[in-house]
Amino acid sequence: MVVLVNPGHTLTGAGSGAVGVLNESKEARDIANIVIRELNKHGVKTILDKVDKAASQAECLNRIVAMANRSDIDYFVSIHFNSSSNKSAHGTEVYTYKGRQFTDALEVCDFISKEGFRNRGVKDGTGLYVIRRTNAKSMLIEVCFVGGQDAATYKKQKEDVGKAIARALWNNVQKVEEDKKNKEEGKKDMLNKLVVYKGDVDANIAVLVAEKHNCMIVKDSVYEKIKSTIEVKELIRVGGLEADTNRYATAKNAIEKYL
Ligand SMILES: [Zn+2]
Repeated sequence: MVVLVNPGHTLTGAGSGAVGVLNESKEARDIANIVIRELNKHGVKTILDKVDKAASQAECLNRIVAMANRSDIDYFVSIHFNSSSNKSAHGTEVYTYKGRQFTDALEVCDFISKEGFRNRGVKDGTGLYVIRRTNAKSMLIEVCFVGGQDAATYKKQKEDVGKAIARALWNNVQKVEEDKKNKEEGKKDMLNKLVVYKGDVDANIAVLVAEKHNCMIVKDSVYEKIKSTIEVKELIRVGGLEADTNRYATAKNAIEKYL
């Protein structure tokens, strides 16, 4: 799992971000660094995709997307700060392709809002260049507004805001890895019961046991070869146990225990 983290905008000049009490370009870079540090701590690989200087905003966006699509990534995460002519606008929001309500996107909103911001929810980001043009799953985070009540809260909570984003992403990465693991394990055939018999002389009694328990039967030497590909809840051994000193003892033990 590789997460590409993109602090939005150039640092200065053409394509640079909003400036209010906070400077979007600078804060996006600080948050990106915290997110990368925290993800790396959890063993998640990251790529930093940033363009500090460009001739135009279009060039900046092109280069960000080109790098994302050149890299083998599972997730494109762009970090931004919001601005509005309405000074009372506040809160955190996330944009996804077609506004898909991914759990991790919802959690980014939820976890950031717990640091003291209004949760504005997950919105349709199809109109945003970096969302529309990147091949990987993508999200654009508007952490909070660069002015108004958000700026003061952000200054106090900055470190925790970065950690909150990383935590939401990390939760998802874990789920993806677990799903992968479960799928691999799911390839094993699951058997409720299986009768395994030792010698040819034990076969007859083993057949009776298998019939009674309505399960399959296999010779011990075969079982040894296939056991890594199957999973058995209850293994019934006929022969080969300590009490099975000869074929009669084996039969007696099997009848007493299983028939
Ligand atoms: Zn922005």
